[in-house]
Amino acid sequence: LPEYAFIGRSNVGKSSLINMLTGQNKLAKTSGRPGKTQLINHFKINNNWFLVDLPGYGYAKVSKSIKKTFQSFIKNYFLQREQLICTFVLVDCRHEPQKIDLEFMEFLGENEIPFCIIFTKSDKLKLSELNRNIKNYSKKMTNTIWEEMPQYFITSATSSDGKEELLNFIGDINQSLEDNL
Ligand code: GDP
Repeated sequence: LPEYAFIGRSNVGKSSLINMLTGQNKLAKTSGRPGKTQLINHFKINNNWFLVDLPGYGYAKVSKSIKKTFQSFIKNYFLQREQLICTFVLVDCRHEPQKIDLEFMEFLGENEIPFCIIFTKSDKLKLSELNRNIKNYSKKMTNTIWEEMPQYFITSATSSDGKEELLNFIGDINQSLEDNL
């Protein structure tokens, strides 16, 4: 079955987003405590795809050696997954582009792993601020190694904004994969 991976810095709202997408809030437990999701979890959705919940990266308070272990663990997943269709890199819409996120996307690009960006917690900003931040983000991306801004989604786990769009995106790809069998 096709896999779609979700990853981001700890506390970016990954568990909340996964719960929103699956409509079950006991799957990925949320907490205000960063760094909680430690293992790779697969959730089977609609019996036709896997949502892959990867550990949060970049939590400042873990030691360097733990960070390194984490990073090679995550990278190994990416370099070995054959069913991985798309990776969603979650970033908090309130924050400036973070070095670790940009580096991670560069890693994906170098390894030709398709990805989209998800701007989370959109309910925390006014529309004008949200638009400005996304514009800044795009500028930063296209000022570095990217020719264009990758496809992105804007979500809020609080209001369920972006849920349909994201599920439709995944559903459409799955449909075209099935059609091509
Ligand atoms: P994770 O560490 O990336 O899995 O992040 P969590 O899903 O546990 O969320 C971290 C914190 O952000 C929690 O306090 C959540 O309640 C909060 N949060 C997550 N998503 C949203 C959102 O869309 N809107 C708002 N307002 N808060 C959110």
